[in-house]
Amino acid sequence: MTFPVVGMIGGGQLARMTHEAGIPLGVRFRILSDTPQDSAAQVVADVTVGDYRDLATLRAFAQGCDVLTFDHEHVPAEHLRALEADGVVVRPGPDALVHAQDKGVMRARLAEIGVPCPVNRIVTDPADVTRFAQEQAGGYPVVLKTVRGGYDGKGVWIARSEADAAEPFRAGVPVLAEEKVDFVRELAANVVRSPHGQAVAYPVVESVQVDGVCDTVIAPAPGLSDALSARAQQLALTVARELGVVGHLAVELFETRAADGGSAILVNELAMRPHNSGHWTMDGAVTSQFANHLRAVLDLPLGDPRPRARWTVMANVLGGDFPDMYAAYLHCMARDPGLKIHMYGKDVKPGRKVGHVNTYGDDLADVRERARHAADYLRGTIDE
Ligand code: ADP
Repeated sequence: MTFPVVGMIGGGQLARMTHEAGIPLGVRFRILSDTPQDSAAQVVADVTVGDYRDLATLRAFAQGCDVLTFDHEHVPAEHLRALEADGVVVRPGPDALVHAQDKGVMRARLAEIGVPCPVNRIVTDPADVTRFAQEQAGGYPVVLKTVRGGYDGKGVWIARSEADAAEPFRAGVPVLAEEKVDFVRELAANVVRSPHGQAVAYPVVESVQVDGVCDTVIAPAPGLSDALSARAQQLALTVARELGVVGHLAVELFETRAADGGSAILVNELAMRPHNSGHWTMDGAVTSQFANHLRAVLDLPLGDPRPRARWTVMANVLGGDFPDMYAAYLHCMARDPGLKIHMYGKDVKPGRKVGHVNTYGDDLADVRERARHAADYLRGTIDE
């Protein structure tokens, strides 16, 4: 067979959906999963169960793979360098990926290339946080982040006083302090870049977070001016090029409003893999983020990123107190034949992302209501 083998490290829902996108291309797909029960391990035929922190396991997994890519960014960069030295093709490579692994490295590099970010610096202890607050951030509150290991708001604290600032230092990881940005909303600019330098930009989306977890994504971001939208896309393309990203890059942004009423954007976070803010593309774009991530890591021409409908809304389905989500399908499907359901095969635990729904159409209020209704009904927080 001449079809290439893509090895993805991680067995979560991103691997599951990347696998789905690879099926029509006939691409062979292999995963390194923590357990046989992981979301992707349930559906992928070629699964290795093992520890991504162990170099011998990674080496064995990489045997026979044409390219390695990721469903999460936690593989130690030194292991990826060792794999590259063995001749393994790793995309994105460790020199790019380190910017999604370490918020301190990311902030320093973005400053070098002139990308606007919240005021920030590495802090050494609570007294230093107070100095940062006084000198740079206009006083408390200050946002503190462990530079590594955070996700879904874990690893992020809002310190209102020096006493509050002690907690993040307990992890034994360097701590980054940032001004608390008074943002109007959060946006994401998603782009995909291939090794030969082709890149595509998806429409900029609004991402609504609840308790640090992405709740809803609206594509395109309502009311975003063409100028700001183009700037955000340009910025994401610049980051992808300057950092040498291959594959999907999500640039999470804050939209701020200046005293004169003008809008501006600041970069919050980078993710170098398919991302929750791109799940809408599965039904709402000509080429999904998963299909384009695969094309990019295989260095194939990229697919059209344009939207297929005026509006697409994605709502995450979180686990609630109602474990039998399948029982909810009857009502959801009967109510809305246009609804697209994507479930991840994960056990329902309160607050856990277990799936998402997409809706699309011409009327934003209607599209939003349909997505909201389905996500809430599946979760069990409404019953009609
Ligand atoms: P994670 O690693 O969990 O993705 P983020 O850096 O994206 O962490 O932060 C999670 C959330 O915390 C953001 O979506 C945003 O709502 C809030 N946040 C992060 N940084 C700041 C900041 N400097 N100012 C205000 N809010 C912030």
